[in-house]
Amino acid sequence: MTETERTAAAPAAEVLAAFEAATGFMPVDEGLALYAAAVGAARDTNLPLLEVGSYCGRSTILLADAARQAGTLALTVDHHRGSEEQQPGWEYHDASLVDPEVGRMDTLPRFRRTLYAAGLEPYVVALVGRSPQVAAVWGAPLGLVFVDGGHTDEHATADYESWVPHLAADGLLVIHDVFPDPADGGQAPYRIYLRALAEGFAEVSAHGSLRVLRRG
Ligand code: SAH
Ligand code: MG
Repeated sequence: MTETERTAAAPAAEVLAAFEAATGFMPVDEGLALYAAAVGAARDTNLPLLEVGSYCGRSTILLADAARQAGTLALTVDHHRGSEEQQPGWEYHDASLVDPEVGRMDTLPRFRRTLYAAGLEPYVVALVGRSPQVAAVWGAPLGLVFVDGGHTDEHATADYESWVPHLAADGLLVIHDVFPDPADGGQAPYRIYLRALAEGFAEVSAHGSLRVLRRG
């Protein structure tokens, strides 16, 4: 990538500000790498970009802006009830995201406010449901699959197995929270990353725990 391309793949100041202000778990440097991958995939394939793990829309902002530029869409899947580690009593719980009437996490209202405020709602299709169930009825090719959902082996493996078959031949597979050292975090995303390499993907780039892969 030349310096000009690198500059071209950086988000505009207002998009970056909306991303930084959004609730979520994507560090800025990894977000910039995700954005560059998304801009490239949208431009090269002209196909929708799919995210597993919308949460409050933090990373979705970046995919939506990349999709907007290429005239395509960002699709994002979440049941909006939170992952295991986000439930009450767990490390990543945010009590402000509990629906008091239901007594369970509901990240959809914050997600919608975030995308609306960023002006990116027209470029996003939010798919509310469990990832493998959505994938099972999905029938269109994707330019990018970004796996950032549940972190158990069950969920990470299901996300990989459900969505990779929908990825276009020249599309990009992006995996978040890849920690080769168990001391840094859970190993499920790392295991699907290793599986992708074993199944013919090649690494394009790595930034922190973000891995960008392409079929070799
Ligand atoms: N991408 C977000 C963080 C995602 S957190 C950001 O940038 O901040 C992980 C999300 O995955 C949670 O919102 C959780 O509800 C969702 N999730 C976990 N398992 C899921 C499953 N099987 N199907 C759909 N969503 C799931
Ligand atoms: Mg993550």
